[in-house]
Amino acid sequence: MAETIGILGSGLIGRSWAMLFASAGYKVRLFDIEPQQVQGALREIEGQLRELEQSKLLRGKRSAREQLALISGTTSLQECVAGALLVQECTPEILDVKMKALRDLDAVVQPPTIISSSTSTHMPSILSKDLKNKSRFVVAHPVNPPYYVRLVEIVPAPHTEAWVPVKVRELMEGIGQVPVALQKEVAGFSLNRIQYVILNEVWRQVQDGILSVSDVDKVMSEGLGPRYAFLGALETAYLNAEGMLNYCDRYAETIYSVSQSMGPTPRMEGEAAKNVQKELCERIPMEKLQERRQWRDACLTRLAVLKKEV
Ligand code: NAD
Repeated sequence: MAETIGILGSGLIGRSWAMLFASAGYKVRLFDIEPQQVQGALREIEGQLRELEQSKLLRGKRSAREQLALISGTTSLQECVAGALLVQECTPEILDVKMKALRDLDAVVQPPTIISSSTSTHMPSILSKDLKNKSRFVVAHPVNPPYYVRLVEIVPAPHTEAWVPVKVRELMEGIGQVPVALQKEVAGFSLNRIQYVILNEVWRQVQDGILSVSDVDKVMSEGLGPRYAFLGALETAYLNAEGMLNYCDRYAETIYSVSQSMGPTPRMEGEAAKNVQKELCERIPMEKLQERRQWRDACLTRLAVLKKEV
């Protein structure tokens, strides 16, 4: 019999997890505090699965109809979690809302069910501190859109039992995601810490009048980005010299001295923020944001196909 996954919260991320788990043959039970949200989510999942099937982008070996049959909605939290291998919490990123949802979940969940949170920013030790099931709590942070961007950051709290992240990693690999396991929690996890370093330097270059908003974005989209879609920063360096030690011999001193000149962390606010907004608006008017997001997702879809081929 197929194992069951409970999903708490049927918004954007809850729906994506439901599709990913069903694509690998898990039974999925979707719960939301707003029952009509679940009905809407099921309709949207059906539409998306059919579209993916038509465009030959459906993940897994099962048809859209078979995958859809694995996903059900429920208005009972108890039913959502009963006997589940894992419950993936996908409630809004508001600490009080998440803590309340986790307390309610904690009251009905039984060992050995794993409680996994999709949080992008909250520390696992804080989210789980008062839970009686806290030894089986972990963060599994996806990247949007998870159907095409496969990274999942697994972050344990200090009280998480060692087998939990190991099991979640195995589960994520089993559904075709690419997990990375942090050995301990750190603010921002890994992806956002790296993203913030990039954002800070991009901001400095615009504020210091070095590059315009559209030119600095090209440094990523036409320079670093294409390379990093296939290789990490360390392998890129390794290939750019005769191995890492040779790279360090050649470039470590320069990297250190340029980094020393970068100055304090900028604040993304005030006049600087207004100027960046104005320049971006000229290129992509606010009323075109949705259209641009769709274009981004279409590009990511094609990239995901290419990454699978190479
Ligand atoms: P969302 O607002 O689209 O959906 C949240 C859903 O949770 C809503 O349907 C809401 O009704 C429901 N909800 C609220 N309280 C609840 C409760 N007590 N029990 C059950 N359901 C409840 O949010 P989202 O964008 O799907 O984000 C969910 C989580 O995923 C957040 O922690 C977010 O940080 C994380 N995340 C989001 C993204 C992203 O790009 N959207 C990326 C990675 C991680």
